[in-house]
Formats: sequence, structure tokens, C-alpha cells
Amino acid sequence: MGARAAAALRRGFRGQLITPGDPEYDAARTVWNGAIDRRPALIARCTGTPDVLLAVEVAREYGLPPTVRGGGHSIAGHAVCDGGLMIDLAPMRNVRVDSARRTAHAQPGATWAEVDRETQRYALATPGGLMSATGIAGTTLGGGFGWLSRAYGLTCDNLLEAELVTADGRVVTASAAQHPELFWGIRGGGGNFGVVTSLSYRLHPVGPQVLCGELYFPADRAPQVLRAVRGHLRGAPDQLFALCLLGIAPALPHLPADLPGTPVVRIAMCHVGRPERGRGAMAPLRALPGVLADTVQLRPYTAWQQMFDPGWGPGARNYWRAEYLATLDDRAIATLTGHLARITSPLSDIRLAFLGGAIARVGPDDTAYTHRSAPYLLSINSRWERPAEDAEHAGWASELWSAMRAFSSGGVYVNFLGQEGPGRVLEAYGPVKYRRLTALKDSYDPGNLFRVNQNIPPSS
Ligand code: FAD
Repeated sequence: MGARAAAALRRGFRGQLITPGDPEYDAARTVWNGAIDRRPALIARCTGTPDVLLAVEVAREYGLPPTVRGGGHSIAGHAVCDGGLMIDLAPMRNVRVDSARRTAHAQPGATWAEVDRETQRYALATPGGLMSATGIAGTTLGGGFGWLSRAYGLTCDNLLEAELVTADGRVVTASAAQHPELFWGIRGGGGNFGVVTSLSYRLHPVGPQVLCGELYFPADRAPQVLRAVRGHLRGAPDQLFALCLLGIAPALPHLPADLPGTPVVRIAMCHVGRPERGRGAMAPLRALPGVLADTVQLRPYTAWQQMFDPGWGPGARNYWRAEYLATLDDRAIATLTGHLARITSPLSDIRLAFLGGAIARVGPDDTAYTHRSAPYLLSINSRWERPAEDAEHAGWASELWSAMRAFSSGGVYVNFLGQEGPGRVLEAYGPVKYRRLTALKDSYDPGNLFRVNQNIPPSS
């Protein structure tokens, strides 16, 4: 079927077609999570919207489930499936900035590194993820939070317009004025409704230098540190974003020589306002007792965006569990810190993002993204190299997640979901929004052509 579909696609397709047996096949089917090993029937590397249109048509006609690859960072590996047609958007990565209007227009194969590089030429940015290598399309469609989110909202809150190829082969623009319900749904509802072929974002003045860095503390200070960050962020300006990481200190050149390899708690922070205000906003945390290393300084925003990339590149095996937390009381803190002592891999960590600010000020029904009022987002990121160790490391993450459910706000961030089943997709949206998304699916993809994702099936 793959060969027949490839023959059909060759009539008019301008990009590259890759089938099993081609020398590029193995590299092209590989996604970020090294635990995913799937063999698509055909990989269609698209150069533009006409290629995407053709690929969608051929997938439908030949009965090959389409998967869409943006940056390939889905934890669940949804960019690829066995026997499917991978619509690979990697060649489509052009970014254009209109500095006068403060907007950026990007193709969906771009990463945050590419968008930030172009927008920062004008000291502008839109909120992306905490790292630079993730794809902009997947991030936006699921919500998208990062260093700028308390100040300027989620990535999807800054989406002005998107072009999509729908399951029935139309090219539509979704915005507040056109296909408004679709525009609502793609801001959090994932890739369920079509293939996004371009995205336009609102930009904000950022940097180009921002005050940012990390504080390292010994693991036995973790309870005090988490309590301090919890208290401080309640009253901190929205320009300050903070993330706590519990894990093993990485080997980085700017850290004291005896730190790598030891269990630590870290506060990673970025302030996107005036540096002197940032210094004031960070001062109480920098003054906490027990600081082993303080890397806070002015840096280019683009450099800070790439700070966490080393150590989180493609290839390693990953099993992540996540949950929004309603509370971070002392019992929750004890559960987290107790589990750090039993960490099974030096590559794994436990992350706690402190949300609020502009994220929580958008109306709860304005976008498909849910759980805006949850103050904390926990992600337990288990990561290792050897397949023989899968059960041990996944078990560590699952055990902590189960224990932390007691503190859940009842939801999960769809972009951090693994292969966790339909019940968890429902938890990502809650029953009311899920029903609205089902109705949207009925309108735009009643045959569930786009089903290799955190799927919202049509009603019949
Ligand atoms: P892909 O695997 O290519 O796609 C992910 C999903 O989106 C798939 O279902 C895919 O089919 C769909 N999709 C992608 N492009 C399109 C398109 N053009 N049209 C329709 N559907 C499409 N999230 C955050 O919010 N903040 C973070 O700081 C953050 N950090 C991360 C760090 C790492 C190392 C990783 C692995 C993930 C991180 N994430 C973060 C989660 C990330 O946002 C999601 O994994 C996101 O889906 C990645 O998008 P992608 O395009 O790279 O992935």
C-alpha cells in the first residue's frame, strides 16, 4: 500500500518521498523519544501547503493513517505510527517577522530556536517552551508554556491565526474572525482537526538580554527551597517565571567541580522586565541559605532558551508522567523530596513549574486549553539509555505520579501526556470542553482521519 500511495503522490508532490528500504528511512522515521520504534509505510517530506494537501488526500484514499511530524518531540511518539503515512513538515521552517506590527509568521516545521532567532533580531518574542529544540506547531496546538508565560500567557494565547489542511482536503484559515470555533479548538485541542501549515503569533518586547539563571542547593534543602519558592511566587511580579528541578546535578562547565553527580534541587528563573526589577524579584530566593551555585546573570534570551537543551536531546528513552497540582503543601513536598532520594537514573528529574500570572487571566472558556487556574504543573521526567532498564525507570516515575495524584487539581497537560489512554485525554479537558471538542471533531474530521494524537474521537 505504501508503494501504491507513493506512486500516487509522485504525481505533483514537490517534496521528498521516503519508503522502507531507502537509505534515509531509518533516520527519517526516528523521533525524539528513543523508546519509540515505529515503521511507517511512507514518509512524505512536504515543502508547502500543496504537498500537505496531496499527502492528506493520498492518506485518505489509500487508507493509510496520517501522522504529522512537526518537531517530533511528542513524548508518546505521535509523529509516527506503524504502517502510516508520516506527513513530515521539517522542510517547512521559514519564519518571517513584521516588527512594525509585532507579529511573526512561521511554518510548522520550525523549532523555537528558529522563531526566537528571527524575533530577537527586533528584541521581540512570543512565549515558547522552556527549551529551544521542540517544534512550534505541537507546542502551540497543546497550549505551550515557557519562560514568558506568566508575563504574556501561553503560546496558544498569542496565536493570531493558523492555516490548516482539513481531512476533506480544504485549506482554511482559523482566527477570531474566520472559523472561530476551529480557532478555539486548535488552541489546546492538539492536532485533531487538521494539519496546520502556518502559524501567526503576537510578539512582545523581550530582552535581547534577560536576567536569568539557576540556584543549586543540596537535596536535603529541598523542602525549605520548595516552600520558599511557593511562598515567593504568590506575590512575585508576572515578569518572573520559576521552575524547580529535583535530580542529579549535571556536568556543566560553569558549576563547581564537586557538584555534578550529586542530588540537588535547582531553581531556574527568568525575569523578562528591567534587570534592576529582576534583581529585586529574585533577591529573596538568591538569599536562601545553602546555595551551592548561583548562575543568575544577564544573558541573551536566545542563550537562555537553549540552556536546557544539552542533556535533553533526541535518542534517550523517555517515560514521563505529569499532573497539574492544586496544592503544594508540606505532605506534597515530602512526597516529592522523598522520591528524589530513590531516583533511578542520573538523566531523570522531577520538575515543578509555577504557573499563574497571565496564564490564569485568560478566560477559562476562551480556548480549548484547560486547567488555567492550576498553580503548579508537575512533570516527572524519567530518562535513561538501556532498553533493559525500561521497567525500573518507568516504575520510578509511575510510583511518584500515583503518590502525587492526592494533590492533583484533577487534570493533566495534554502536551506532557504519554500513551495513557482515552481517560487521561478526558482529564486533559474535563467533560464540558471534551464535549465541545467532540462536536468540533464532528464538524472538521467526522471520519477521524487525524487519530494518531491525543485523540478526541467524533461522536459516531
Ligand atoms: P511532534 O511529535 O512533531 O508533534 C506533537 C503532536 O502534535 C503530534 O500529535 C502531532 O501530530 C501534532 N502536530 C505537530 N505538528 C502539527 C501540525 N503542523 N498540524 C497538526 N498537528 C501537528 N511543552 C511546553 O509547553 N513547554 C515546555 O517547556 C516543553 N518542554 C519540552 C521539552 C522536551 C525535551 C520535550 C520532549 C517536550 C517538551 N514540551 C514542552 C512538550 C511539547 O510541547 C510537546 O511534546 C509538543 O507536542 C512537541 O511538538 P513537536 O511539534 O515537536 O512534536
